[in-house]
Amino acid sequence: MSSNPIDISVAMMAPQPPLSNSVRDFIARKPRLLINGEWVGARAGNTLAVFDPATGREIGRVAEAGAEDVERAVAAARAAFESGPWPEMSPAGRELMLWRLADLIDRHAAEFSEIESLDNGKTRFMASVIDVPGARDYFRYMAGWATKIEGTTMQTSIGGIPGAKFHTYVAREPVGVVAQIVPWNFPLAMAAWKLAPALAAGCTCILKPAEQTPLSALRLGELIIEAGFPPGVVNILTGLGETAGAALVAHPGVDKIAFTGSTEVGKLINKSATDTLKRVSLELGGKSPVIVLPDADVDAVIGGAAMAIFFNSGQVCTAGSRLYVHSKIFDRVVEGLGAAANGIRLGPGLDQATQMGPLVSKEQQQRVLGYIESGRKQGASVLAGGEAPSHPGYFVKPTVLVNVRPEMRVVREEIFGPVLVAQRFDELDEVVKAANDSPYGLGASIWTNNLSAAQRLIPRIKAGTVWVNCHNMVDPNMPFGGFKQSGFGREHGRVAMDMYTELKSVCMLV
Ligand code: ADP
Repeated sequence: MSSNPIDISVAMMAPQPPLSNSVRDFIARKPRLLINGEWVGARAGNTLAVFDPATGREIGRVAEAGAEDVERAVAAARAAFESGPWPEMSPAGRELMLWRLADLIDRHAAEFSEIESLDNGKTRFMASVIDVPGARDYFRYMAGWATKIEGTTMQTSIGGIPGAKFHTYVAREPVGVVAQIVPWNFPLAMAAWKLAPALAAGCTCILKPAEQTPLSALRLGELIIEAGFPPGVVNILTGLGETAGAALVAHPGVDKIAFTGSTEVGKLINKSATDTLKRVSLELGGKSPVIVLPDADVDAVIGGAAMAIFFNSGQVCTAGSRLYVHSKIFDRVVEGLGAAANGIRLGPGLDQATQMGPLVSKEQQQRVLGYIESGRKQGASVLAGGEAPSHPGYFVKPTVLVNVRPEMRVVREEIFGPVLVAQRFDELDEVVKAANDSPYGLGASIWTNNLSAAQRLIPRIKAGTVWVNCHNMVDPNMPFGGFKQSGFGREHGRVAMDMYTELKSVCMLV
């Protein structure tokens, strides 16, 4: 039993509201893959079920891409990269295509929010203010980079030919055919993060959405055709990671893999991609610390730390899952967080009253509950949540664990759910050591109004992003990626163009 004083389990559960006609029609379409600009069934005829995580019910089926479908998609992407209208298109032409796609996302924003909520479980409200406008703006931002790709000229001192002069420069060229494998926590936004920079750079793409959340990528595929992208420039394969995903990673016709997902799968992908020496970028797991200094505003910390862990049901790679609070204010912060967790209204994502939806799948729900159980067994106390509500759907109550120790699995491993572990500290050196005592290094936040303390702390934290008095803030212009086992490569901003281009040095005897 949890020590949660308010029973949020029964009162919360309203039925999933009815779907709009457009979404009902969309999910009733025949299972299909986007290959070479056409919607085709999987060659082997296999399909995968799609579930509504709020009810556990099957809501539709999508095609399951197999080896032959991967072959067809790679061939289409290769042909579109080497010949036809895409390599002939000017950068301004690519920019226009990306803008058109962004406008179409905007026009269908309500539909996308509904699809994303239904498929992933997140609230429709959150999808409508974060995921969908975020994806739209990401295409717009990256559209601008298409016309800003540049190289450099160099002075050289090449000897051996008396009196010879050389004109030398570096050009940037698209890396080629890119396979992009994305996770289920922000399906549309992750598709945008992958497709937009690759297309701006002039690459061609094969996108594989996660098997748990394939729907928004398929709807995006329809808009990609409507926007006028030439056939084969974007191919979309729904399917399993171990088969379709692994086949893309191993395929010699793919030049680059861009992956967002678990560290475990990232390592497998990196190993497999070594055989063909593909370019690889990996945005992987995290166990991000939230460090609260003694002067911090307690109310701001409670709200901020609750959002840092409970946003998107904790299914965020930068989720603030390890809380370190100075002893002076620890009890007040933790008590406030427990009350905040107990006050969160669980329910189906499409219900307007819901504040937190279910986890994405039964498997994920069981995994998260297993972690909570392991924490209990190792001696942690459950201050809030700690269990699934008694109704159907893949819910887990927002959970706060205290009395944890650094060696516990709940402190060391990425849970990817609404589970916070809270620890106290007295000295700065102690909290720096604890915060960095992790194989991960994706994000971290520092909560203080002491500028000097923040500035001194920032360089000591090993993380790709450090937030101060906020957490989980991302922007297309702000490089994003991890230190250590949180991956390598940076998405967003100018550096995203580096990920999708090769440098070519040209040396001309003049
Ligand atoms: P999670 O464990 O959180 O479900 P994963 O890292 O397994 O996340 O999944 C992220 C993406 O990686 C999904 O699209 C999934 O299909 C894909 N994937 C899983 N296993 C493999 C694999 N062996 N090779 C390539 N892609 C994979």
